[in-house]
Amino acid sequence: MSKQIDIVSLYPKDMNIYGDTGNVLAITRRLRLYGYDPQVHLVNQGDPWPQHADMVLGGGGQDTGQKKIITDLFARADLLRSLVEQGVPMLMICGLYQLFGEYFETVDGTRLDGIGVIGAYTVGSDVRRIGNLVEQSEDFGSIIGYENHSGQTFLREGVKPLGTVGEGLGNNGEDGTEGARVHNMIGSYMHGSLLPKNPAISDFLIRTAVERRYGGFDLSEQTDAQRDELARLDNYCAKAREVAA
Ligand code: GLN
Repeated sequence: MSKQIDIVSLYPKDMNIYGDTGNVLAITRRLRLYGYDPQVHLVNQGDPWPQHADMVLGGGGQDTGQKKIITDLFARADLLRSLVEQGVPMLMICGLYQLFGEYFETVDGTRLDGIGVIGAYTVGSDVRRIGNLVEQSEDFGSIIGYENHSGQTFLREGVKPLGTVGEGLGNNGEDGTEGARVHNMIGSYMHGSLLPKNPAISDFLIRTAVERRYGGFDLSEQTDAQRDELARLDNYCAKAREVAA
């Protein structure tokens, strides 16, 4: 019997732009190819939190989407903070990355308080930062993707960025940082979607989730066909990364 891994897809209705749903698809496919049984729980505003949450994935959204989910996000803030503290792997892209920080002041002057998981704040501007994004990270090597945001995020001193920008603007276009890392939570501006193009990050999220729940990562349920399919997928991805680099 393959082992179940429960994944929360956070606010898929309002926070899913620029292909971020692809992160959920990439994780579930990869987990299956390792011989695990992924269960995705869609958590929109007001929905119950599942009994198990081995991983939480959240996407980007326009300022209007962020305003829609903010009350519900606050209702779940203690839970999310405690899951991050416990080391639950999470990936928060763009709009949710901003709201996991201290606050987001939008371009029209509205201040949305964030849940303060990340020591960072974001200020809206009337310039959109759009284009390819390539960065180098200590933990995952080069990360490739696409950014599209008007907010500029500034990390507080001592907060670890996800990477250092090579091409693109990243957190704010000024200090060369992109994203943030707090325990096993990754925040990033990378759309594209991020995970299909960056399997090292998928594997980090998967291994962390599996090890936390089952005490170890094993491939005992993986079939030969699944192993071959995973190798094909990785080969294809490596070629796509060469083209994008
Ligand atoms: N609304 C935010 C901004 O423009 C987030 C956009 C996004 O998630 N792509 O900065």
